[in-house]
Amino acid sequence: MAVHESDLVILGGGSGGYACALRAAQLGLSVTLIEADKVGGTCLHRGCIPTKALLHSAEVADSARTAADFGIKVQMSGVDMAAVLEYKSRVVDRLYTGLQGLVRSHRIDLVSGTGHLVGNKTIEVDGQERYAGRSVVLATGSYARTIPGVVLGPRVVTSDAALELDQVPSRVVVLGGGVIGVEFASVWSSFGSEVTIVEALDRLVPAEDEWVSKQLARAFRKRNITTRTASRVRNVIQSDESVTLELEDDQTLEADLVLVAVGRGPRTTGNGFEDHGIVLDRGFVVTDDRLRTSVDGVYAVGDIVPGLQLAHRGFQHGIFVAEQIAGQQPPVINEEHVPRVTYSHPEVASVGLSEKSATERHGAATAVVYDLAGNGKSQILQTSGGIKVIRAGGKDEDGPIVGVHMVGDRVGELIGEAQMTVAWEALPSDVAPFVHAHPTQNEAFGEAVLALAGTPLHGHN
Ligand SMILES: Cc1cc2nc3c(=O)[nH]c(=O)nc-3n(C[C@H](O)[C@H](O)[C@H](O)COP(=O)(O)OP(=O)(O)OC[C@H]3O[C@@H](n4cnc5c(N)ncnc54)[C@H](O)[C@@H]3O)c2cc1C
Repeated sequence: MAVHESDLVILGGGSGGYACALRAAQLGLSVTLIEADKVGGTCLHRGCIPTKALLHSAEVADSARTAADFGIKVQMSGVDMAAVLEYKSRVVDRLYTGLQGLVRSHRIDLVSGTGHLVGNKTIEVDGQERYAGRSVVLATGSYARTIPGVVLGPRVVTSDAALELDQVPSRVVVLGGGVIGVEFASVWSSFGSEVTIVEALDRLVPAEDEWVSKQLARAFRKRNITTRTASRVRNVIQSDESVTLELEDDQTLEADLVLVAVGRGPRTTGNGFEDHGIVLDRGFVVTDDRLRTSVDGVYAVGDIVPGLQLAHRGFQHGIFVAEQIAGQQPPVINEEHVPRVTYSHPEVASVGLSEKSATERHGAATAVVYDLAGNGKSQILQTSGGIKVIRAGGKDEDGPIVGVHMVGDRVGELIGEAQMTVAWEALPSDVAPFVHAHPTQNEAFGEAVLALAGTPLHGHN
């Protein structure tokens, strides 16, 4: 069997794999990128981009429905799912074309096929060709987990099939109140479905600060999205007409569609990883903080590495590993500084520690919430919510800002300043002098920081 050699062989062309390939090529390495499906991976084809296109269509639907509140006469006559899907595909296709061009222009050798680690830093593709690298990067990503005993079908789907639905379901039950679950719940509610979220833990978006979960639950209640927390499904029965869900508390729910959104598992089985010495922990690849696996010269990036499963984390992993392989010394990625955005209506955006973790870590923490009711731009947009800024230390101390949590439409766009503030360990008094443009939602962040610095301007207390 012929063996092709290059400096770097990457298995998987998603966010982590392709970012690694581009950066390594920029640094002069010869790169082979092996992809079983399409470069761009989950994020571009079945994740970030298509869901955000649906969420934008949902926002347009909400704007049309509430246009009269803003003095605009619009007749909302329905959602044309075929046209929504067409718009979504247009966005994805355009980005996909651009990405393929980037890969070509960087002279990356893109190999189409399913790769298998066969040892000696070598990947065999479809049992036919072998690709050996001086270094190998594993970037095989993740898949949608399901609940044991729950059988997928036309009416019980994961996010992959939910993105291709050509009709708006009348009644939907979303199993899982994490990021993916609440985003789909938000879309369907805006499209006119009756939506129920069933979450096993005691709150929505349980990875976020508790204040965020309360704000989101309240906003969803106002939108008539039903949330059943601390609730588990026992059985899901599909028929041609509907789906019946039996919950562990003996209640039943009827729906036309069930979305199973209970997290994503690492795609690390059946591809030779463990057979060739890659140590896994509950399926995830174990790495050190420089993303080296247990096998010398083999690295792992993205969703297969334990931690936040986010595209921008994968990009950063990819860049980091490429630079390291090229002989640079990039600083270790601080996972706590990875920003998190949930693009529901309203949005959730956060970075750094929750109030609970900040208190545990620093002994004491002080938090301020600035309500968007006092923010001009938010009132213009008619959105509610708030911005919570947390600093280390008790009330009379002057510790750095360690966490920022935001709820409200468009707050995802504010995460940049929050991220820099946390990453630079800025004191409230460092940030307070910065002038924020008026009227912007950014001002609400500035106001929260002013309050933390002891100089509130538009605060009520
Ligand atoms: C519905 C949904 C919405 C999301 N929204 C967001 C969001 O808004 N923002 C955000 O940051 N993240 C979001 N994510 C998460 C994001 O998509 C992932 O974190 C990101 O795609 C992970 O990148 P990755 O490179 O690790 O893996 P992937 O993107 O999954 O890529 C892995 C690639 O490897 C290929 N592959 C796997 N095994 C093999 C093999 N043996 N041989 C060859 N090729 C192989 C796969 O075909 C795939 O293309 C979302 C995910 C989902 C499902």
